[in-house]
Amino acid sequence: RARKRFGQNFLHDPQVIGRIVKAIAPKADDVLVEIGPGLGALTEPVAEQAGHLTVVELDRDLAERLRQHPTLASKLTIHQADAMKFDFRQLVKPGQKLKVFGNLPYNISTPLLFHLFEYADEIDTMHFMLQKEVVERMTASHGSKDYGRLSVMTQFYCKALPVVQVGPGAFKPAPKVDSAVVRLLPYNKAERAAVDPAILNRVCLEAFNQRRKTLRNCFSNFATAEQLQALGIDPTLRPEQLAVADFIRVAQWLATQEAGYAN
Ligand code: SAM
Repeated sequence: RARKRFGQNFLHDPQVIGRIVKAIAPKADDVLVEIGPGLGALTEPVAEQAGHLTVVELDRDLAERLRQHPTLASKLTIHQADAMKFDFRQLVKPGQKLKVFGNLPYNISTPLLFHLFEYADEIDTMHFMLQKEVVERMTASHGSKDYGRLSVMTQFYCKALPVVQVGPGAFKPAPKVDSAVVRLLPYNKAERAAVDPAILNRVCLEAFNQRRKTLRNCFSNFATAEQLQALGIDPTLRPEQLAVADFIRVAQWLATQEAGYAN
């Protein structure tokens, strides 16, 4: 029986499973990591193609089932653990980054994504099944109604692309919402803007807590309209009109201001 508090909706549509595995494109020399393998709907075909993978499953009973699985167990390294607290760095092999995937529990998807972003330098690609709205928010451009903190933070860390759309009927029990798989390709350190993610996150919180206000008002705690203008930012815009690069510029400027105060 599926446990609601663990966000358990198990995939059972072979066609959908096939499309997701094709998107992940597992290979024998990949360091594959699955979050929330459940009954193994994705685990089995991925293990079949790759030969081995590591799984992180919170539910003791499900982890035990995988340990006892007649054909799958020998291909798995099983961690019975909370993925939100899991140190993914321990799985990295010298010179090789992780390929992370999973049909995530929707109730914790945003904090789990933020936890994974901390390992962006250790990750090659991520493929996650999420509520469709979450994928739309992650991939939204400025000017869209879906654009917000999740868009800015996702796109700061990764190139994000929707790859598979999935209806409720592909799962048991069927969720109330549509789902989609997102592909995340983390930028390496050199490609990523030099900014403290915690400050960028704070700037996003200030901005999007008051979507209807203009930037002048959203940012009034730390910048004047003149200071925004000097950064090339129109203070009369609303937060959803501000591109990711502009958010980064505000955060970089704020960091220098705060460093100034500290000295
Ligand atoms: N991958 C399976 C499938 O597609 O059929 C199961 C997907 S189900 C939506 C989510 C899975 O994540 C469940 O197996 C659940 O027990 C597990 N899970 C829930 N919270 C977790 C957490 N914090 N850390 C690791 N696994 C978790």
